[in-house]
Amino acid sequence: LFLNRGNMNQDDLKNLTIENARDLLDSHQISSLELTEAYLERIENTESDVNSFVTVSKETARNDAKNADVLINSGSQNLLTGIPLQLKDNLCTSGIRTTCSSKMLENFIPPYDAFVAEKLKKQGAVLLGKGNLDEFAMGSSTENSAFQSTKNPFDITRVPGGSSGGPAASVSASQCLFSLGSDTGGSIRQPASLCGVVGLKPTYGRVSRYGLIAFASSLDQIGPITHTVKDSAMVLNNIAGFDSKDSTSLNVPVPNYLDKIDHGIKGFKIGVPKEYFQKGIDPGVEKIIRDSLKVLEDLGAEISEISLPLTSYALAVYYIIAPSEASANLTRYDGVKYGFNYSNAENMWEGIEKTRQFGFGDEVKRRILLGTYALSSGYYDAFYLKAQKVRTLIRKEFEDAFQSYDVLAMPTSPSTAFKLNEKMNDPMQMYLNDIFTIPANIAGIPSISIPAGMNNGLPVGLQMMAGALQEEKLFQTSYAFEQATDWHKIKPDI
Ligand code: GLN
Repeated sequence: LFLNRGNMNQDDLKNLTIENARDLLDSHQISSLELTEAYLERIENTESDVNSFVTVSKETARNDAKNADVLINSGSQNLLTGIPLQLKDNLCTSGIRTTCSSKMLENFIPPYDAFVAEKLKKQGAVLLGKGNLDEFAMGSSTENSAFQSTKNPFDITRVPGGSSGGPAASVSASQCLFSLGSDTGGSIRQPASLCGVVGLKPTYGRVSRYGLIAFASSLDQIGPITHTVKDSAMVLNNIAGFDSKDSTSLNVPVPNYLDKIDHGIKGFKIGVPKEYFQKGIDPGVEKIIRDSLKVLEDLGAEISEISLPLTSYALAVYYIIAPSEASANLTRYDGVKYGFNYSNAENMWEGIEKTRQFGFGDEVKRRILLGTYALSSGYYDAFYLKAQKVRTLIRKEFEDAFQSYDVLAMPTSPSTAFKLNEKMNDPMQMYLNDIFTIPANIAGIPSISIPAGMNNGLPVGLQMMAGALQEEKLFQTSYAFEQATDWHKIKPDI
């Protein structure tokens, strides 16, 4: 890789990873400010097609970069010092607008940083701006954003997936070196799959949710979207760990995720649950996943078909638990303390009603209605309590599987990127996009999506899951696959 100092062309950025940018920065072949300017220019050139940013924070990015250069020049840099990134716009950033792509928070400027934002800031990483999402992270196409639809860089007539569509599209279009997303039912992995990049949902509790605007608190988890598996491990190294401000944060040591990444997968036992290959899966996607399993086998893994019969209940369980938690979490938007406020009301109740009527979009209202219904007295036992019981069984089914298998492999999404507007009027079709990703959230286990092939010019992701806190196995398997294939090198023509 060669970057002509101060004169980077767009193809240089397309080949850049965190790993090689680190080398360029540390060997003073480029400064963080130069790198940042190159990305800002790239954003300027591509944003009218991609629409992945809600906010580009140019001035603070330049300041971050100048500070990073001071650290680098004095030899006190970290792994992410000077590295330009994006954050999904449901991660609070002190002094920078954080909207959740909702009218409700259109002008909300948080007075504090999310745990992850603060960690990256302390490392001297450079925040380029905030990534678009489905409003409050509810959706699978990013079309539920109150502001704009993000486009898939591989075909701008198609969706990037969601809800982290902005983060996935911006990494795919090389507008940043990495982004952080959130995943409640697939929102990191599904868009990563549709945009041809690497997306990791860590174990529930591995990364602090402090400052992540809550959707469904027992399912939400923050994770990296990157160009490569190694970059994913590098970012996780820097955002994982205990945080006393998140009561569900796990107080267990964080391994160095790079340590075993290149140890190979000889003798690894990989289970392939047959329930993830049933009706609704695109035959082109299925073929690519089956070919990928062959690659893993050639690398020395033992592949066996297994059965996880409770999988078929995961979507139903999710659509009780997630809306229930959302309905409670979203009561705080009442127009009183912060956010959008309907100001022409005659009295307090009308003020709250109209604030919510005009501040929330249709999908968010649908979830609030579903959740309120499921939690109402008389229905609680039949819906919420029952869903919690089935959740425990699903978790147990995975625990049992990981007694015998190191990882499980399956498709991330049943199809490739669909057309804009194709599924907007059919919520059930939209919800079915997450049928393969939701089980990992229900069980709280880590899961990754990596580029595994192209179907009619559109990327296909291979998903893998591991037992709780076994991210290392996911990295090890994914890295071996990535080394053996070139799919991650295919970049959109944008
Ligand atoms: N698409 C799923 C939903 O709409 C998952 C979203 C997410 O993971 N944030 O709820």
